[in-house]
Amino acid sequence: MYLKKYTEILKRLRNDPMINPSAGDIAKLCPHLAAEEIERMFNQSDTMFIACPSLKVRGAFQIIYLEPAAKNQPVTLRWGHTGKINYAPEYPYTAEAIKFAEDNWGKYLIDDSWSEVAEVRIMDPTDLVYGELYPGGAPKNVMTIIAIMSQRSEVMSRDHSRPRNKLFDEAIIEMSTDPLISEELKDGRHPYTYYFCGFCGSGFEPSYCPGCDNGFEGGYFEDRASRMALPPKLAEFARQNGHVFKKDPKIALEKELKGFRENKYYYWRK
Ligand SMILES: [Zn+2]
Repeated sequence: MYLKKYTEILKRLRNDPMINPSAGDIAKLCPHLAAEEIERMFNQSDTMFIACPSLKVRGAFQIIYLEPAAKNQPVTLRWGHTGKINYAPEYPYTAEAIKFAEDNWGKYLIDDSWSEVAEVRIMDPTDLVYGELYPGGAPKNVMTIIAIMSQRSEVMSRDHSRPRNKLFDEAIIEMSTDPLISEELKDGRHPYTYYFCGFCGSGFEPSYCPGCDNGFEGGYFEDRASRMALPPKLAEFARQNGHVFKKDPKIALEKELKGFRENKYYYWRK
């Protein structure tokens, strides 16, 4: 199936720019363009941006660019970023790219209808990384999941009818760990970042995890507490993508549900 092959080639380009690409190389990334259009790209004296078909989102496009030969550099083809009509300026061949995706894999495309984008970071408190802002060590980010949401976080945080992770779980429309698809999902919206423990699935306290008692630099999660356990859909998705929780995240989830039933304000804590 062409979508799979196209995705692989685009992924390769994102990781490694292509030096001295042939017209045939570009054609594989530009199935929406005629051979003459591609030939014409080699006559440009400036960097040329090219909109290519999206992988997941209707009306989005992937952007690659061709740099002409310069003093220290041969002709180079690179992946740039993603764009979306109504959000980003249009690039050459935008209409052709959108039409091609629609005509060839339109049934797999989703409409841009979500309210918010959540960037979910799974962090390992037993594997610390050190930096200027956290010289004592902060949990390492071991997986990032982009989730598109049907509800806004500020609305969910005012809704006390159900535990927060339940509201969050229900609002998830689609998730991805794929960087190219994540870019399409995020594009045009500022994502809210949520941090969860990769050991046990709990939300963090500023300097330790209340679910597994692993500690780290004080203050790192001061303003970043998720105030909920990892919602089940996200836990399952993390597992499907190869993450191993050392402690079943259902335990953290149960603790939150129990706290909610007992009506504690900080019900997600110990
Ligand atoms: Zn933990």
